[in-house]
Amino acid sequence: MKIIDLLTQEKLSLSFEVFPPKTETSFESVKTATEEIAKLHPAFMSVTYGAGGGTSKYTLDIAKNIKELYDVPTLAHLTCVSSSKEMVQQKIAEIQAAGIKNVMALRGDIPAGLEDADRSHWDYQHAIELIRELKEADADFCIGGACYPEIHPESINQKEDIKRLKEKVDAGCDFLTTQMFFDNNLFYNFLYKIREAGITVPVIPGIMPITNASQVKRSIELSGSFMPQRFKSLVDKFGSDPAAMKQAGIAYATDQIIDLYANNIMNVHVYSMNKPDVAEKIQSNLSDILGK
Ligand code: FAD
Repeated sequence: MKIIDLLTQEKLSLSFEVFPPKTETSFESVKTATEEIAKLHPAFMSVTYGAGGGTSKYTLDIAKNIKELYDVPTLAHLTCVSSSKEMVQQKIAEIQAAGIKNVMALRGDIPAGLEDADRSHWDYQHAIELIRELKEADADFCIGGACYPEIHPESINQKEDIKRLKEKVDAGCDFLTTQMFFDNNLFYNFLYKIREAGITVPVIPGIMPITNASQVKRSIELSGSFMPQRFKSLVDKFGSDPAAMKQAGIAYATDQIIDLYANNIMNVHVYSMNKPDVAEKIQSNLSDILGK
């Protein structure tokens, strides 16, 4: 099932993100966690690919398992910046052979230490090149792209970032998913600007439930997201009490989702990572709204 055909316009729908195991030893525990999330029957689940510019052996195994056992549509992430053309072509063929229809086409982060290196000889510079290859694959993929309400950290300004985003969408993105944000006004403002720039594809906001204080630091470092004072106060108050912090973080994310829905945003992607209890709690908090 293609994600573009699942994006409901009538009522709220949630999708969840998981990440694959890094090693074979953790494969079974990650598989179990992702299955628990799949049992919640989200609109779809996305499975990330590597991190910090790395690749991943297990993205497809996890995505295929969820799709086949629980009939949940899956979105397989794929990055290109650390890969050769041959590797990417092989991955595309594997995705196609696994019957996965949806690909999140990403550049990936520049591997640590290579930020200032001469990258002109690399096979890939930007996600747009991967998107073009996916379009040429003759597989009728539904293609997602990443976008940044608070600007991608490498962009010189938002105007330039949106110009590049428009080129990426025109190359073949069917929908966009945002980087996490903790202030919905940043998202509304971004949406207004990209619509003005002629980007018309659906944009799925990504919401990250922060469930422990150390995650705050890591998430902010990775995403560069702005922390509203309301959220900072919550971390100050509950950060040293893990159970209370988790409850408060889930409540904050739930509140963000309700506000998005109240502003007619129907599809929300939850960065649930591999935490079935967090995904379940968000869903149960919204049960009457979701009709689940
Ligand atoms: P691009 O679209 O290539 O953009 C990167 C930068 O280059 C931007 O500043 C952009 O404005 C600029 N740019 C784009 N095109 C051009 C061009 N033609 N010429 C000049 N400049 C250009 N990382 C992972 O490793 N694995 C994952 O699974 C993963 N999933 C993600 C999911 C989402 C929803 C998001 C938001 C991010 C995800 N990331 C993931 C992180 C992502 O890989 C990084 O943010 C990366 O630095 C940029 O990837 P991109 O696809 O947005 O790149």
